[in-house]
Amino acid sequence: MNPQSAPDQRPQSVATPSGGLPVYCPVCQTVPLQGKQQACSPRCRIQKSMATREAKRVKIQADRDATARLHLRAAQRSVAETQRFISEALNLLQEPSL
Ligand SMILES: [Zn+2]
Repeated sequence: MNPQSAPDQRPQSVATPSGGLPVYCPVCQTVPLQGKQQACSPRCRIQKSMATREAKRVKIQADRDATARLHLRAAQRSVAETQRFISEALNLLQEPSL
């Protein structure tokens, strides 16, 4: 028996992509992920999915705000144009009768 050659102490099977460094749980940043895990525990998985949902919600809200802003600007231009037409019509009516 040669205990020197038996690598019993090899690190547990962790995800080691390119650099050979373990990938840590993106939520707690402390537990190395194993295999194709996205999070280390149910707790972290729930937090991760909540964060994803929140990010989506923020994005949808931002898109909605941007669209509303576009509509408001278009309406503002339209109001300005309407006011210009009203002013021109009033000016014509205020000119002396022919
Ligand atoms: Zn975790």
